[in-house]
Amino acid sequence: MSGDLSTTAAMPAAPPPVHILSFDVEEYFQVEAAAACVPRDTWDSIPRRLEPAVARILDLLAARRTSATFFVLGWVARRDPDLVRRIAAAGHEIASHGMEHRMIGRLGPEEFRRDVRDSRRMLSDLAGQPVLGYRAPTFSVTHKTAWAIDVLAEEGYEYDSSVFPVRHDRYGVPEAPAWPHRAVGPGGGSLLEIPPLTLRLAGMNLPVGGGGYLRLLPVRVVAWALARAEDAGQRGMIYLHPWELDPDQPVLPMRRLSRWRHRVGLRRTAAKLAWLLDRFRFAGVRQCRDALAAAAQQTFTYGSPA
Ligand SMILES: [Zn+2]
Repeated sequence: MSGDLSTTAAMPAAPPPVHILSFDVEEYFQVEAAAACVPRDTWDSIPRRLEPAVARILDLLAARRTSATFFVLGWVARRDPDLVRRIAAAGHEIASHGMEHRMIGRLGPEEFRRDVRDSRRMLSDLAGQPVLGYRAPTFSVTHKTAWAIDVLAEEGYEYDSSVFPVRHDRYGVPEAPAWPHRAVGPGGGSLLEIPPLTLRLAGMNLPVGGGGYLRLLPVRVVAWALARAEDAGQRGMIYLHPWELDPDQPVLPMRRLSRWRHRVGLRRTAAKLAWLLDRFRFAGVRQCRDALAAAAQQTFTYGSPA
């Protein structure tokens, strides 16, 4: 191969952008939709199922030399510190999913500050790497809880991935930018914000980039959204939970709609993830943070809630 760049030969096309792959590491019974039927004080009595599902993900990623960001719940890290060490030792980024999977609005600013400070310290110590990122339980950074952006910036976090730019009954900031951008809290604190992948159709952002959406939709719709991101010179962010690769998990006594949302497509998640990994390039946030920060041209400023 010639290293001479002064020739008139056409330069090879730039490689497509690397998309972001992320996992929220929590047990299947810790989802918000199960809060009413699986009280927190019973969590320790329920057999944990996380470890084999995480091992499956680590194998899928290792086979494709792909790295990812793992937003680990503090509750999980306390009970299985070796799991955090193993994920980090496999070359992945460890980030925070808070301590106890409480929605931000129920914590309030001071409790939230303690939560993100404690989880950051614990995870950094276990992983032997600085923790840069945070994802709120159930994407619970909204207009009402945008003070969280100020708190995260003050506590030393560099990025957040908790704002879903869609309409939904539990979360969402539909007018927030759909691509990585700077988010500015009502107090002036600023962070890189990495929203989940959406597909713009009929003037609306449709959620496609993870969880139940990825399980429900044909994988080609997700691929289409990723290809459209590439056409726009942007990166999509995919998120999944290890329990979504565990189809044999016990059925929780949730309300019917919640149970359907939780279980739809569980048997196909692993194959869909592998299919996407074989066709698109992915990495964790840390690995492309400089490029992400440079590309985040847009700024979205939250006002104080009325
Ligand atoms: Zn979660």
